[in-house]
Amino acid sequence: MRYLVISDIHANLTAFHTVLDDAGVLGKDYDFVWCLGDVVGYGPDPNECVDLLRGLPHLCLAGNHDWAALGRIDIRTFNADARKAATWTREQLTDENLAYLEALPTTFVLGDFTLAHGSPREPVWEYILDPLYAALNFPHYQTTFCLVGHTHTPVTFKQLNERGECEAVAPKYGESVDLGTARQIINPGSVGQPRDSDPRAAYAMLDIEKMTWEAKRIAYDIPAVQDRMRKADMPDRLVTRLEHGW
Ligand code: ZN
Repeated sequence: MRYLVISDIHANLTAFHTVLDDAGVLGKDYDFVWCLGDVVGYGPDPNECVDLLRGLPHLCLAGNHDWAALGRIDIRTFNADARKAATWTREQLTDENLAYLEALPTTFVLGDFTLAHGSPREPVWEYILDPLYAALNFPHYQTTFCLVGHTHTPVTFKQLNERGECEAVAPKYGESVDLGTARQIINPGSVGQPRDSDPRAAYAMLDIEKMTWEAKRIAYDIPAVQDRMRKADMPDRLVTRLEHGW
């Protein structure tokens, strides 16, 4: 069984569509999608992205921006641009899509994989940005692998010893990597707002029979998304950052 692993779509329908096309998921009925949260927030297509995801065989976790759109968290902790986008998103979402986001779990365990948006320790909030934070999180889940999003940066943190020390391994795009037996916290990167200076949409394919992970990048029509953002009067900084990948 092959899983498409995605995260942080952030209401970017063009990027989401391009990823599904590239992964060969559209039009098939046997692949399964794991989405690690932040379906909405920042981008111009919140309902369209939730609708598209809901039409796929999938499991989705709650992200901080999904909760912000629900009014479940205090958006005063967000910066001004994110706050404006969250308020706009909340106004756009249909009751049905709000109910869908409302029902998303914060963690999920499937076989040897634990799924969370931020971290196993603080599923909605914590950013695992470096090996130190990864090391602190290894005791907080039971399975060999943990899949997270939230930082918008594709990376694998691999445990090196029983003390929990670990190293960060950069993705090798388009190369199927054997997952091996070491405990790992793996981030597929962001579909809709990459922040690793590479503006292409990021995602991964996981084959749980072969136990392989393949990190992928795919270019999408960024100006088309920026046009819709400008029409929705979204903050310039959010519009510009898409083409730079920060
Ligand atoms: Zn996010």
